[in-house]
Amino acid sequence: MSDMGWSQYIRRLDDAAAMEEKAREQDMLPWLYKFCDYDSPHAMYRAFYKYTDCGPWVSLRVNGQWVHCQDLHKLGLWKDMVARGDIVDEALIGSIVEGVDAEAAPVSVRLGDIRSARSKSGKVTRHSLRSALGSAVSAVNEQANAIWDETHGCDTCRKHWADEGDVDASEDAFVSVWDECPDCGGHGAII
Ligand SMILES: [Zn+2]
Repeated sequence: MSDMGWSQYIRRLDDAAAMEEKAREQDMLPWLYKFCDYDSPHAMYRAFYKYTDCGPWVSLRVNGQWVHCQDLHKLGLWKDMVARGDIVDEALIGSIVEGVDAEAAPVSVRLGDIRSARSKSGKVTRHSLRSALGSAVSAVNEQANAIWDETHGCDTCRKHWADEGDVDASEDAFVSVWDECPDCGGHGAII
């Protein structure tokens, strides 16, 4: 290896080490392991998916690589990840709205977000972790529901808006849900 090549190689190692150190400072894994209500990333994703209307997706950045939804299964338990020395420096929660090309903007959860606002030293507690993840899920759910309501009006909703004369309610345009619609019950229809 030439001198130039060697110094570049060393610099890359330095960069990698510096990046790892930075990620390590931002590592949320110890807290997820200690305080998460679920014993694995996949169980957490399944619970959010199952118990939230919009069925959000969850991704974790593990050792610099994003791991998504079903693939979280491959990570095993939080315990296994701690044993491997993994670093989790960001969680991302988002939602795709069925039938339209729209998506709730993903909400990021990082170490700063899971610290308790009530603690001067920024302690992480079971409560602060749960509340950070919970607010991210709620924010995504609200957004996804708003998008749904704007776009998933059924034919009867469409007719209602057309009669009101206040929107372009032509056949192919998305119409919003009429909350008193007798047909879809104000829930909208799957597009
Ligand atoms: Zn309707």
